[in-house]
Amino acid sequence: MPRTRRRSRRQDPEVVRLRGAALDAAAAGLFVFPVKPGEKLPAVPRHAARHCRQRGICADGHQGWEQRATRDRAQIYAWWSGQPRFNVGIACGPSGIVVIDLDTSTDPLPDWGGATTGREVLDQLAARHSGELTDTYSTRTPTHGEHLYYRMPAGLELHNTTQGLSGSLGPLIDTRAWGGMAVGAGSVRPEGAYIVAEHGQITELPDWLATLLTPAPPPQRPAAVALPTRRANAYVAAILRDEVGQVAAAQAGSRQSTLYFTAYRLGRLVGGGELEADHVAALLREAAAGHIRDDAFGPDQANDAIARGLHKGAEDPRYIDEHTSTRDDDTADAGP
Ligand SMILES: [Zn+2]
Repeated sequence: MPRTRRRSRRQDPEVVRLRGAALDAAAAGLFVFPVKPGEKLPAVPRHAARHCRQRGICADGHQGWEQRATRDRAQIYAWWSGQPRFNVGIACGPSGIVVIDLDTSTDPLPDWGGATTGREVLDQLAARHSGELTDTYSTRTPTHGEHLYYRMPAGLELHNTTQGLSGSLGPLIDTRAWGGMAVGAGSVRPEGAYIVAEHGQITELPDWLATLLTPAPPPQRPAAVALPTRRANAYVAAILRDEVGQVAAAQAGSRQSTLYFTAYRLGRLVGGGELEADHVAALLREAAAGHIRDDAFGPDQANDAIARGLHKGAEDPRYIDEHTSTRDDDTADAGP
């Protein structure tokens, strides 16, 4: 085999530095992938899942960033060899981690004692649940946010949560797990660099946080969810099933908001062309039927919540394959 010419070329020191950051992350057990230079959006895949022709690298199923993320040194050298100067993406699910993404705000939160940081909200949550925040590896983001890295407890398969939506821990806090990514230490954006704040081991997610992040199992699920379009792959179908199940399982006090936020999240997929609006609306009406029977709300209110949620969600399209978001600050789950 001929000697690779890579070694004889002068390397861009910035690429070498970023590669070092990627290798460090991999050595710590994290699965990495390239993120666009200076940004926080994945640089892989090159095509959308719905455009996948199941050829080449995708022969056994579409390969997005979550599938392609690796700890393999040779692959890391291949990605970070010449240009571009990729940032380092951490795929949380394959890495078996949960990243608690703490934002900041200039508007004090009245319900949280005037807190302006996700860290303050998290501290208050810990106090409220008599929990502790164990020391763990963390990073500081270019916009003064914090990323706390925790190991996902065995047997749990946590997914992302987004502040303001049902299932989230609280304001200014997102969490990233399966389907989510974080931009790793050493990466840079025009605003600054991601730096290690707390060195050391990634410790296990504290019990009280694991409990808060574990969705209650739905007591009943719609028997079957037909695929609404040919484009809807198994992943979209699974999301749809979970979301519709959440509506059916919603408890008194949050039933209408659950319906709205579920419609919102599914509306994003409608906007992305992954689902059909009419079909989603029909499934949500069916899932809400039990609540209507319980007089939690009337059919008109249900239809209104569904329509508003779908409409609002469609304004923020989500494409299943890309798993990136421009709305939150330093990590991403889905978006254009
Ligand atoms: Zn593909």
